[in-house]
Amino acid sequence: MSRRQELADGLERVRARIDAACAGAGRSAEEVTLVVVTKFFPASDVRLLAELGVRHVGENRHQEAEAKAAELGDLDLAWHYIGGLQSNKAAAVARYADAVHSLDRAKLVTGLSRGARERGRDLDVLVQVSLDPPGAEGRAGVEPADVPELVERVQQADGLRLRGVMAVAPLGADPDPAFARLAEVAADVRRLEPAADWVSAGMSGDLEHAVRHGATHLRVGSAVLGPRPSNQ
Ligand SMILES: *Cc1c(COP(=O)(O)O)cnc(C)c1O
Repeated sequence: MSRRQELADGLERVRARIDAACAGAGRSAEEVTLVVVTKFFPASDVRLLAELGVRHVGENRHQEAEAKAAELGDLDLAWHYIGGLQSNKAAAVARYADAVHSLDRAKLVTGLSRGARERGRDLDVLVQVSLDPPGAEGRAGVEPADVPELVERVQQADGLRLRGVMAVAPLGADPDPAFARLAEVAADVRRLEPAADWVSAGMSGDLEHAVRHGATHLRVGSAVLGPRPSNQ
């Protein structure tokens, strides 16, 4: 089978899952944006995905993302940066990314703001929320209690537009209570910034749960592209 056909099949399966999840949740599939996570896969795959109608792609490593965005500058793609960010790379990410989902500390705000201003275009940012139990050997994300302070920092920064929240469900735990908690945090954020109505949640393994809890942006990699060369 050609790579193009593999990707077409993967996309069709994922879109069918999203449609079914939305129908089950009484939501319109138009409320949900599929961000195809292309990390570790070559730019040629991203080009095929664009030909197959994908508009939103996600990357989690700065150098790889920067190179792909440059190589594929002729395509009309929105680049979503979803990975851990070093503060000394934040400005560089803001120069090619259309949205950064992984803002998890105030220290990143200055760099992102500077990069966005240099580019001359507002950058969409999401606050990454930790859904791990307190004290867990955790993944990235701010504790829900610390979200309002970070929201305020973004609101005060030039060139940044707060769009909502992002999270990854805790590894090996039931995603439903975690995504329910994220929905509460998202509602709190909307009280502070009514336009911040994105909820980025749900991956290959748990997108149905995320749709049930109001996700607007699904970040799906392996279910579209197949297994990654390394498990990241
Ligand atoms: C890799 C990654 C995804 C996609 O994961 P899959 O399980 O392959 O769908 C989603 N979100 C983040 C933050 C990621 O790093």
